[in-house]
Amino acid sequence: MTENNERRVAVVTGSTRGIGREIARELAAAGMNVVVNSSSERSLPQAAELARALADEFGVEAMPVAANVADEVEANALIDAALDGFGRVDVLVNNAGITRDGLAARMSDDDFDAVIDINLKGAFHCCRAAAKAMMKQRWGRIINMSSVVGVYGNAGQVNYAASKAGVIGLTKSLAKELAKRNITANAVAPGFIATDMTDALTDAQREAITGRIGCGRLGEPADIAHLVRFLASDEASYITGQVICVDGGMSL
Ligand code: NAP
Repeated sequence: MTENNERRVAVVTGSTRGIGREIARELAAAGMNVVVNSSSERSLPQAAELARALADEFGVEAMPVAANVADEVEANALIDAALDGFGRVDVLVNNAGITRDGLAARMSDDDFDAVIDINLKGAFHCCRAAAKAMMKQRWGRIINMSSVVGVYGNAGQVNYAASKAGVIGLTKSLAKELAKRNITANAVAPGFIATDMTDALTDAQREAITGRIGCGRLGEPADIAHLVRFLASDEASYITGQVICVDGGMSL
């Protein structure tokens, strides 16, 4: 809770499904009001349905907002919606992300740019807008979704790996800029988590990947959301500029 005992306010980008949906749920369970974000009007009904469920289950306020974070104007509008609706932005989780895989030699500029624009520039747009509000409040938590692929690289994902490595640089630099204002910025680097994003794997690919994971299973969205909940809390005030891998031991 904030000093005057208002609920904290979290914006979770890309929270219609997968990891973002679970993060929105986890932060609502922690008592925060939540802005649930879809990439467009088309998927707004999923965001609205989640917002209703969070309000019913946890007694918080939740607001669905359609915004393509790659678009500077829409990203600014997303943060403004939180400020207009709830009066503050305490927690920003930059979770929105896409893949457009292919070998580098055959990858089009369009596929490279689309992934950078959403995964990296989208995170930058939202950080820039939210940091202004957090600096005034002198409290904030920024949590950016990277990937183990951004740390170690992956064949067939030069665009995605570059975007997720970029997110790490963005996070560390922001952490240095904002630490004195009581604002932390950390990156979470998931391994393979069972969502729509990893649904496209064949059974053989899934088996090969699982064989490399110490825990012997793909991760669940909740495995990521639990860490985000902690990083968003008062208890995590001395953790900033870090990249935390949540991969069941895959990168060991
Ligand atoms: P997902 O199931 O494919 O969901 C992606 C989410 O991002 C959806 O809510 C989607 O909204 C939203 N989104 C896409 N483009 C957007 C845009 N331009 N503006 C706003 N929202 C947008 O993905 P996921 O597996 O949960 O992944 C979530 C994050 O974790 C991503 O950043 C991903 O790179 C990262 N990650 C995932 C894994 C994994 O194994 N799954 C591993 C490492 C990192 P719509 O429904 O409106 O399209």
